[in-house]
Amino acid sequence: MSVDIAVENVVLKRKLADYERKLKEQETDPLTQLYSKQKFFSEVRKMLDANPHKPFIFIRFDIERFQLINSFFGLDEGDKLLQYLAFKMRQFALVLPNCIIGRIEGDIFGMCYNFNSSPESLRAMMMQNLESFIGGYRADYELRIIIGAYPIEDNSMSIESIYSRVILASKKCKQNPTGGYLAFYDASMSEDMIKNQRITNQMSTALKENQFEVVLQPKCHLKTGELIGAEALVRWRHPENGYLPPSEFIPVFEKNGFIFKLDEYVWNKACEYIRSWIDSGFDLVPISVNVSRYDLRSSSLPAKFKEILERYNVPAKYLHLEITESSYAEDANAIVQEVQRLKDVGLHIEMDDFGTAYSSLNMLNEMPIDTLKLDMSFVRNYEKSPGRAIILQFIVKLAQALNLEVLAEGVETKEQAEHLLSLGCCMGQGYYFSKPVPKKDFDVFVMQHVTASA
Ligand code: C2E
Ligand code: CA
Ligand code: CA
Repeated sequence: MSVDIAVENVVLKRKLADYERKLKEQETDPLTQLYSKQKFFSEVRKMLDANPHKPFIFIRFDIERFQLINSFFGLDEGDKLLQYLAFKMRQFALVLPNCIIGRIEGDIFGMCYNFNSSPESLRAMMMQNLESFIGGYRADYELRIIIGAYPIEDNSMSIESIYSRVILASKKCKQNPTGGYLAFYDASMSEDMIKNQRITNQMSTALKENQFEVVLQPKCHLKTGELIGAEALVRWRHPENGYLPPSEFIPVFEKNGFIFKLDEYVWNKACEYIRSWIDSGFDLVPISVNVSRYDLRSSSLPAKFKEILERYNVPAKYLHLEITESSYAEDANAIVQEVQRLKDVGLHIEMDDFGTAYSSLNMLNEMPIDTLKLDMSFVRNYEKSPGRAIILQFIVKLAQALNLEVLAEGVETKEQAEHLLSLGCCMGQGYYFSKPVPKKDFDVFVMQHVTASA
């Protein structure tokens, strides 16, 4: 062999060793020494192909609010936690059949193994192992690990499809903070996702084509039945699926951000209705519109309301805003300021669904609100137990002491109306008076109102 060829060989060998080292680095996550995402997915693929008829389960682990650990305790502490979790997973893997583990990204880990038992046994195993580790990890931090699991139904399925199902299971777990830390994928999750996507694809056209209808539900004096206002509620006249209630689409719009556009449409419609009654010379009652907590994130909300009121030349006192109690729970101080700015425009503020978010009664005093709208559950439950009846009585007294108006939602019977009256609550809304009705039917209520007050 010539010297040249020998040198060339040495260089080639070095290049090969370099290449293998780099490949290994890419295949291994340097922090935890587990497989990196690509290598993990390809190893799972190989394992499923080699065992087409064996049952496997794919599990995704995700540390809840991991960024907070980094911000509270520093990046080193975050890294330590990830390493510790990887160490625990390796221990798991040793006792599980055909088990492959990997770090998918950030604080997300994956595991796939031959799983032949029931969901209950998986839950029990996780309880025993992970819980004991999590429980004692740091006394000064509530650590929670979200686990999404999918028992693979068909081993020839692509890894991407398998992984998207575990993500759906994890999401279900996250949405239910008190419902445990482990959720299994089920087919309805994909159906929901497809349904929500369909709603998302159709929403802009629906708005352009006036498929959203704004109906009105009267608010009445509990003793005389006199009309004192109305709530504007939205419906979707869907060309294929019929008349859809808000529960079908509002939660999707709150997630994808479209709620602001829809609410703006409803606010405009409400003012258009008020203008039509002014023009007809009717005796007016204020109309309440719902303001989603997502709308409150926009700092231009007061300007937006001013603009709408000016567009229809409607005095602010005829538009009431319903803001749910839970909106205040997130960032009370910021929301209080934002709502105060709305009140400064001259808008009357109602706290909707009061009693569902357990806001601090201390805070109530400082909140810029005019009316407490008691959640339906108060009316529904007071008959069930004396304790609940006392709470209802207490809330009405409290509202009076704070100089707030109080209105009960979900009044369905004469008995309920009379009971509320006996407590000192004089305003109500519910099927006892009327269901939400289209504008043309509500016009009749407004006309009668002229007669009643004439
Ligand atoms: P909400 O603001 O608490 O509205 C009251 C809901 O209770 C309405 O349901 C109404 O039809 C129903 N209701 C009224 N009286 C009774 C009664 O006596 N018995 C019973 N069982 N139910 C009664 P709806 O119209 O289905 O609205 C549900 C929720 O959807 C609303 O709850 C509100 O959170 C949301 N929503 C409706 N329209 C809009 C809107 O334009 N914008 C936003 N952001 N949310 C809206
Ligand atoms: Ca409402
Ligand atoms: Ca309500």
